[in-house]
Amino acid sequence: MIVYWHRKDLRGTDNRGLARAARADRVVPLFVLDPTVLEYASPIRVACLLEALADLRAWYRDRGSELLVVRGDAREVVPALAAERDAARVVWNEDYSGLAGERDEAVRTALEDEGIDHESVTDGLHHGPGSISPNEGEHYSVFSYFWKKWRDREKADPEPEPTAADLADLADESESEVDPIPSLSELGFDEPDADPPTVSRDAARERLETFCSEAIYRYADERDVPAAGSTSRLSTHLKWGTIGPREVYVETERALEDAPDEDARESVVAFRRQLAFREFYVHVLAFNPETVTKDFSGYENDIEWRNDRDELAAWRSGETGYPIVDAGMRQLRSEGWVHNRVRMLVASFLTKDLLVDWREGYDWYRRHLADHETSSDVAGWQWSASTGADSQPYFRVFNPTKQGREYDPDAAYIREHVPELEDVPADRIHEWPELASEERTELAPDYPDPIVDHASRREEAIAAFERARDEG
Ligand SMILES: Cc1cc2nc3c(=O)[nH]c(=O)nc-3n(C[C@H](O)[C@H](O)[C@H](O)COP(=O)(O)OP(=O)(O)OC[C@H]3O[C@@H](n4cnc5c(N)ncnc54)[C@H](O)[C@@H]3O)c2cc1C
Repeated sequence: MIVYWHRKDLRGTDNRGLARAARADRVVPLFVLDPTVLEYASPIRVACLLEALADLRAWYRDRGSELLVVRGDAREVVPALAAERDAARVVWNEDYSGLAGERDEAVRTALEDEGIDHESVTDGLHHGPGSISPNEGEHYSVFSYFWKKWRDREKADPEPEPTAADLADLADESESEVDPIPSLSELGFDEPDADPPTVSRDAARERLETFCSEAIYRYADERDVPAAGSTSRLSTHLKWGTIGPREVYVETERALEDAPDEDARESVVAFRRQLAFREFYVHVLAFNPETVTKDFSGYENDIEWRNDRDELAAWRSGETGYPIVDAGMRQLRSEGWVHNRVRMLVASFLTKDLLVDWREGYDWYRRHLADHETSSDVAGWQWSASTGADSQPYFRVFNPTKQGREYDPDAAYIREHVPELEDVPADRIHEWPELASEERTELAPDYPDPIVDHASRREEAIAAFERARDEG
């Protein structure tokens, strides 16, 4: 018997660790609801997790087995369950974040104390940390170098799905003894603000197939246009592991074969480039776990963050008077997801226009994103704050008005999320910060005036970063 420990890989298909366990012996599948992990969770993410767990449990039940869901400290639960089931080995897929690494090390030690074997493999990404590097034991800090190697490296095929014969027959337990999956409130969480996205195998496969049959060919042209809906929205599935990276890649191969022309082929490659970005950031974090809270590239002096609480509150609630920024912040609260271009924009607005420490923004995203992934979230924030690996230079500050005009010309995205501006013509929406106060009151009395002047705040932010750089 082998215990397979599910963590961020809530699927039975294309699961490398599970497939490996199933090749060796019959599998007892386990998930641990660990209070230490839940401490860092948020209502939307726990809602996603519970849904994915219920889906995975149903998958196992269809095969005469059962996903055991146990509450407790993984360092105790995993060895105790393995001993109780007389398992020879526990297998899991690697999680490269700092906290997970510490926990896994403790689990390994506890298993060894019990005389139980353990094995962990790379599953959630094609090429694990250390496998794409400039020199042994190092990682790339510049994405373009990483990308060239990632792109040219051979990719593994999807892993086969275990059959009923590979799994421990736990059908009797399913009917009687097994712990039910707790509810949000039983775990101490409120209902989320947003309607959580459906996080299940079917939802993930459907999204992947739909995207790869059509929108993928428009991706290069439209990925920066939030109203186009042309991105895959696979991030939540990749985060929870309801889709495997190899299945995603195989679909891009199919899309490449069926591409009608060279532009369409390039578009597929542009999509793959984003998949590589995700892996690049996992590598960066794995080698630099302290960057969850510390700047990746420090300056000579501390950045003098302004950290004005009222301005931070206006940003959080989408009341800054900069329409595209407010649309993004409201999309976050209503959907638990934000379009990438808008994530960059709102992050730039917070860290440059408002000069609020990126850690405040990260903390807000972490609480509200359904797809919150420490590696990508920290990297996205540090990129925007000009403190990250390969990040936006500090003197390049997004102009929210220009960005709104360029990427949401008809203001369709803004109107969708900011109903106060529903009847305002697009050109007026984009001119909002420059309009006279009376005109704003006449056009949309309930929508706020801009809380800051972008041009002067831009100058102040650049000056603050210059001071931080100043070695004198
Ligand atoms: C401040 C900030 C915070 C972010 N936080 C997260 C986060 O917590 N979780 C997260 O998955 N992504 C994060 N991103 C990256 C990116 O915004 C999302 O991955 C993307 O918007 C998800 O939508 P999609 O699945 O439609 O992406 P697509 O455009 O369809 O891309 C496909 C996949 O590639 C990966 N990807 C795309 N862009 C990026 C990127 N810039 N960095 C890393 N991976 C990328 C994602 O896994 C995504 O699902 C953040 C970006 C910024 C600027």
